[in-house]
Amino acid sequence: MTDPSLITIVTPVYCEEESLERFYEEVSATINGCNFETELLFVDDGSTDRTPEILQQLRQKGPRVKIITLSRNFGSLAAFNAGLTHAAGDAAMILSADLQEPPELILKFVEKWREGNHIVWAVRESRDDPWLKSLFANIFYWLMRHMAFPDFPRGGMDTGLFDRRIINIYCTIPEKLTSPFFTIYSLGFKQCQIPYHRRRREQGTSKWPFLKRVRNAIDIIVSFTAAPVHFMAVVGLLLSGLAIFGALIIIYQRVFLGMGESGWPSLAVLVLFTSGLNLMLLGVAAEYIYRIAQEVKKQPRYLIMTTDGIQEEGPRTDPEKAEVSSQARKES
Ligand code: UDP
Ligand code: MG
Repeated sequence: MTDPSLITIVTPVYCEEESLERFYEEVSATINGCNFETELLFVDDGSTDRTPEILQQLRQKGPRVKIITLSRNFGSLAAFNAGLTHAAGDAAMILSADLQEPPELILKFVEKWREGNHIVWAVRESRDDPWLKSLFANIFYWLMRHMAFPDFPRGGMDTGLFDRRIINIYCTIPEKLTSPFFTIYSLGFKQCQIPYHRRRREQGTSKWPFLKRVRNAIDIIVSFTAAPVHFMAVVGLLLSGLAIFGALIIIYQRVFLGMGESGWPSLAVLVLFTSGLNLMLLGVAAEYIYRIAQEVKKQPRYLIMTTDGIQEEGPRTDPEKAEVSSQARKES
């Protein structure tokens, strides 16, 4: 039985001249002959190499290739947003151009979606990434599980498939400094997970430098949990308690034991320690205030320079129909 569903595969690309052709071949080999339609929506995130040229060549190979070119590099999360906003599919998924997520996932995603799930995640069961990157990721996901989402997958996720209904809801959420995956995860609805092995990047290098990763991790923590602020309050309270305790000891020694003051070095250490701690705690508060300021500015997440193959009328399915269609799928 053929299913007229259209699945959008969103691929953010930034300087991926080495990977693109192989990506297209592997994905095409996977989806050719499938009983659903597909569109390959590449979002060129301000590439400065031969990526735009290669994308145009791929577009000549078939009408299902569509391209959005952003005006500069906005980061893959913004590119993902651009792709999701312009996806015409009844469902959309994200796949990186470096093939770290195997294209076979497409078929598994669609199968789970047809079973009635609104969100299908591919969760990393194992990964071939460098140990430092894996360690950092593990610490981050451990923190997120303890501070915000107790059931969040241990290895995190890099890709998922989202039903039209989820896409429509997600596109109305204005928050910029966060991660689309955490935002979508927090929506609820019917979610399921597929375990997968994240492959090593074979061509080119990661386009996410370490510091950018750290910034994004802080964005996500600040966006989803107030735990650091609570921690600040507890530390402040403990320190005040300690100071009162110390003062009582000094008064006692002075009044009852007739002892003199202790020397200034210990005082200097104490002053340095508390002022350092104050600065650190202020820094935590500043992370929140900075992000509020960024959100208030309402700057666009991305700017589109050109599009190829994108229909002006926007998504194929409206939210009402999507609701009906996913309901119908569930019941069938
Ligand atoms: N990417 C992007 N803009 C960026 C950085 C990355 O569009 O500023 C794309 C990149 O081309 C790839 C995907 O996002 O298709 C994932 O990036 P990458 O593989 O570098 O991230 P990693 O797998 O190392 O986390
Ligand atoms: Mg990668």
